[in-house]
Amino acid sequence: MPVPVPTLQVALPVPLPRLFDYLPPPGIAAATVAVGQRLRVPFGHRALCGVVLGHGEAGSGITLRAALELLDTGPLLHGELLDSLRWLAGYLHAPVGEVLATALPAALRRGEPLPDTARRGWVLSEAGRTALPGLRAGKPRRLAELLVEARDEDWLDAALPGWRAPLRRLRERALVERVVLAETPAPAPLAVGFSPNPEQQAAIAAIRSATGFAPFLLEGITGSGKTEVYLQAIADCLARGRQALVLVPEIGLTPQMLARFRTRLGVPVLALHSGLGDGERAVAWLAAARGQARVVVGTRSAVFTPLPHAGLIVVDEEHDASYKQFDGIRYHARDFAIVRARALGVPIVLGSATPALETLHNAQVGRYVHLRLRQRAGAAQVPPVRVVDVRKRPLQAGLSEQALEAIASALAAGGQVLVFRNRRGYAPVLLCHDCGWSAHCPRCSSEERPTPMTVHAHGKRLQCHHCGYRKPAPPACPDCASLALQPQGNGTERIEEALQARFPEVPVLRIDRGSTGHRDALQRHFDDLGERPGILVGTQMLAKGHDLPNLTLVVVVGIDEGLFSADFRSGEKLAQLLVQVAGRAGRAARAGEVLLQTHHPEHALLQTLLRGGYPAFAQAELALREVAGLPPFAHMALLRAEARHADPPQQFLQAARQALQGFALEVAGPLPAPMPRRAGHVRAQLVLCANARGPLHAALQAVMPALHALPEARRVRWSLDVDPADLY
Ligand code: ADP
Ligand code: ZN
Ligand code: ZN
Repeated sequence: MPVPVPTLQVALPVPLPRLFDYLPPPGIAAATVAVGQRLRVPFGHRALCGVVLGHGEAGSGITLRAALELLDTGPLLHGELLDSLRWLAGYLHAPVGEVLATALPAALRRGEPLPDTARRGWVLSEAGRTALPGLRAGKPRRLAELLVEARDEDWLDAALPGWRAPLRRLRERALVERVVLAETPAPAPLAVGFSPNPEQQAAIAAIRSATGFAPFLLEGITGSGKTEVYLQAIADCLARGRQALVLVPEIGLTPQMLARFRTRLGVPVLALHSGLGDGERAVAWLAAARGQARVVVGTRSAVFTPLPHAGLIVVDEEHDASYKQFDGIRYHARDFAIVRARALGVPIVLGSATPALETLHNAQVGRYVHLRLRQRAGAAQVPPVRVVDVRKRPLQAGLSEQALEAIASALAAGGQVLVFRNRRGYAPVLLCHDCGWSAHCPRCSSEERPTPMTVHAHGKRLQCHHCGYRKPAPPACPDCASLALQPQGNGTERIEEALQARFPEVPVLRIDRGSTGHRDALQRHFDDLGERPGILVGTQMLAKGHDLPNLTLVVVVGIDEGLFSADFRSGEKLAQLLVQVAGRAGRAARAGEVLLQTHHPEHALLQTLLRGGYPAFAQAELALREVAGLPPFAHMALLRAEARHADPPQQFLQAARQALQGFALEVAGPLPAPMPRRAGHVRAQLVLCANARGPLHAALQAVMPALHALPEARRVRWSLDVDPADLY
């Protein structure tokens, strides 16, 4: 009788909804390999790194390949995180191997060995101690004085910005050396010169008294002291010997913000963001897994941080769109954070001045405790909003005379001005004044829907904001050879140009993805400006981030497109953006003002927002969503498909529609996507909608394996998006 052979079930980063069976690597017994260990295995002609998720047996007669190498001595993924990730794979109906690969830092996903996570720092060497009294005054000497004691790099960042250059000088002379620091220093928090106001106190007390899983919505206007509440709650959590995880939007993770956390909490704060190298990320992830990192502050993917000693999770600006991953594994970091907090049995605080309607709804039905901060903290005042009706008014680069005058007087009073325009580039369209030709993206346009290319570089270049395609602007009209090509409309570049011409005596800084792709570049811009009078022109990158105490005027131009978008979430997004941008003014002692330029002053959204603020808007919008049967009163999933030609997406989605027949959900489509062609691909979609999660997920669970197996699936690129953030 042949005996069954023990095998390992491995999750691999491939788009197939199953595990793969392997024999253990030569010389290793399957039973000694634990779930959660990484394994290198042969896959086709490649080698892949996967994670062991189970043990099995193969009958005789089945030939299995043997794994190549066991990569870890113990499980890398285990406990709550592994369970939560398996849950996430089920919820997104995504292959678990891809979910695990998304959760692991790139270096570990590739199978690299676990890095050393010891905390390191710098200290004077013997030679340095001897040389110190003789060093000339200057930065190297100041650094040397600090390094009489061993210091870590975060501490140096806060104590002596720009310390790396003098460090290099000291190293060249062997005056300093790198040392391993004690594991976790005791917290040495810095006191603040104020005490929390009554609303803050109530919020802090509520979070403090939570035992086990407890979700809070902290709704507080900009500048009301939400961060202060987080800091106190985190300090409590640290005092109990637990770890805290703080999620922030991509642009919110500023050096300023990190410095505030570090000095206030008095412990090392690990930052996890896209600017880190793979090595640094792996170290941070592992330091959290080993319990060495006490406070982790990070962007979207930091939601996958292991938290063996979890005590608190905070999601700042919980409404922010950057929490949703837009390709691959389409998770929502806020939603997954809630799932993890429940599994970990810890409180979670969702903070925002403009909560997502989903979150507000959850608070209103009693799923979350609703905490409110209605006043600005300290002396700051909420700025008044003035609507400027620009119908029939002359505009210069989109700016009314009224706005220009307000800018002039704000500058004359020594203040700074923010001009917000959510459109980068020079102009949204290049038009031939003689024949009406305009420049369209060849890769994103279809006959029914041409997609204009944005004019950049003061009219010299064209660029598609959907697919990135670029080309030089033509010298003459390709249709009629006329030289009368005119950029139409205004982007941030053109507004910058107009403001520079009008206010030559002050700096005009443009902040958008084109000018300031990099986090550090953004910081440098703000540092350069300092407290001097000046103008910032930019897109939503300006809506948050760096605090500008001297900002006294915010001018909002060209939001009118947003008032008439087809996407059901566009109103919510616009209202959030307006409130957030307006909130930038008057954050310190100086009073602020907001000017809102529009051709539609009577629009219901603007009226509600101006009269009742975001809460009134949100109530009205929730009522509309309820009537229309849209989220949060319905649950959606979007099945997207694209291909070079129109037929395959149609055929695939038609087949999917067939498969979904008989389930209790509404299916709309196949429909062309709102952007029916992009980067040379024809795009279509099927919208699935149900009034409860149960039936939606039951249907998806039943049909997803069949969709993977459809012959039509092989001719398209397709994906499922559960809880889509937009239908784009
Ligand atoms: P938010 O996160 O809601 O935008 P912050 O926590 O950043 O607000 O607070 C805004 C400013 O007010 C910060 O400079 C902060 O130090 C200060 N602040 C917060 N709470 C108080 C308070 N109770 N009294 C005085 N100043 C405060
Ligand atoms: Zn022409
Ligand atoms: Zn394009």
